[in-house]
Amino acid sequence: MQNEFKFLISNDWRESKNVLEVRNPYNNDVVGITYLATEGDINDAILNAVSAFKETRKLPAYKRAEILCNIKNGISERKEDFARTITLEAGKPIADSRLEVERAICTFQIAMEEATRISGEYISLDISERSKNRNAIHKRFPIGPILGITPFNFPINLVVHKIAPAIASGSTIIIKPASKTPLTALLLGKVISESGLPSGAFSVFPCSPGLAEQIISDDRIKMLTFTGSAEIGWRLKQIANKKKVTLELGGNAGTIIDCNDNIDYAVRRCITSAFSYSGQVCISLQRLFINKIIYSDFMSKFLKEIKTLKMGNPMDENTKLGPMIDEQSAKRTELWIKEAVNHGAVIACGGLRKGVFFEPTVVTNTTPQMKINANEVFAPVVTVTEYESFEDAVEQLNNSVYGLQAGIFTNNIKHVFYAYEHLDVGGVIINDVPSFRADSMPYGGAKESGIGREGVRYAMEEMTEPKLLVLNLS
Ligand code: NAP
Repeated sequence: MQNEFKFLISNDWRESKNVLEVRNPYNNDVVGITYLATEGDINDAILNAVSAFKETRKLPAYKRAEILCNIKNGISERKEDFARTITLEAGKPIADSRLEVERAICTFQIAMEEATRISGEYISLDISERSKNRNAIHKRFPIGPILGITPFNFPINLVVHKIAPAIASGSTIIIKPASKTPLTALLLGKVISESGLPSGAFSVFPCSPGLAEQIISDDRIKMLTFTGSAEIGWRLKQIANKKKVTLELGGNAGTIIDCNDNIDYAVRRCITSAFSYSGQVCISLQRLFINKIIYSDFMSKFLKEIKTLKMGNPMDENTKLGPMIDEQSAKRTELWIKEAVNHGAVIACGGLRKGVFFEPTVVTNTTPQMKINANEVFAPVVTVTEYESFEDAVEQLNNSVYGLQAGIFTNNIKHVFYAYEHLDVGGVIINDVPSFRADSMPYGGAKESGIGREGVRYAMEEMTEPKLLVLNLS
């Protein structure tokens, strides 16, 4: 595997004096080095994005689809290279990294199809004498150069969720990946640079937060699409001022187990949702509410199954839990657990940090105010609360500043619609966990969890502006 990764400004691979070492969270080895872009580099990227937009906005649909298809094929040819790079820089178990790469391929496939579907509407305006013989066309136009900022936890698919809809809808895009996991995005840059996309339409580079903020406030950039923490996201929205912004932020997702129809299935899904990638997923299951009638049955199966999870080297095919992204995150988790226990919480399993690893942990007897409930824990920790009435469980799940997705296991159709109507979240997932996501579905949050939607077609809507053409044919 290549160890030096230059960054990409248009079709120009560059380096700078500011070396960025990317380390493997598992053993702290240097995985690769790259460079932080300078002010000169970012100015070139913006200039090129503006100039290339003149070309991309006019690209016919079949051409955009062809470029997207080339990128999809380029990733497919280097699947294992992408998966290994993700595992090395993010510490994600290799099986999960492979799944992420498959999803990225699928996201480009969807974008390729949507590029040819983006269309408009013909409207007849003969609604009165005054407007007879008038007709209108309403269609969407690409917004212009976009800046995408991405987090560490899905180094390819969340980058793709910004690039693919931008290309599909005719905009140019600059990507600033997370500095902990930039190598996968730079590898993707190589594939994109060979795809036939007009030069200047795409740049990707890590840079300092100060320079990233400079790009956000630059008037030539028409939109910020940000995925990351709520703290940073809402602050950047202020810097973006009047320009269009979508924010895909954090959460403390809840799940309600309402019935005993298939407890084994619910247990398996909850384990995947709470502990995959050590809980470092924005829609990880963090708060579990269980109907009193099935509480002890569910809990005994849940705790037994957790014992089988293998923690270790993320390159090992059997590893389910790898390291957390850094020791600081593991220490923060340890602190929050201790704080909860000091206030009366009970650890049902796990609870211990081993360096950068954190055991899969289940905590009961918690209160909504404890950090492990109120904040985004972003670690392999789930709190469990018993409930008597479904309405009360919905209220407890809603008792959060966040609102990304919620899971409900039920066979009661009234409960399905009660939850859909009353939960303040971006998505309600019935008979599955909140971390379910298909890359075509509208995805995003309510409350502190963000604004706007991703999922290719929905991101394309965010990245375009509608314009009306009225025709007087009298
Ligand atoms: P983060 O610390 O907020 O960072 C996200 C991105 O913002 C990184 O590229 C980061 O760069 C950049 N950034 C930080 N400060 C900045 C500034 N002042 N100006 C411009 N850019 C700045 O988040 P993270 O720790 O990487 O990721 C975890 C968070 O992302 C969690 O809260 C998780 O829930 C959320 N997330 C949400 C979704 C969703 O779809 N809703 C999906 C995945 C993750 P550096 O890396 O260089 O600091």
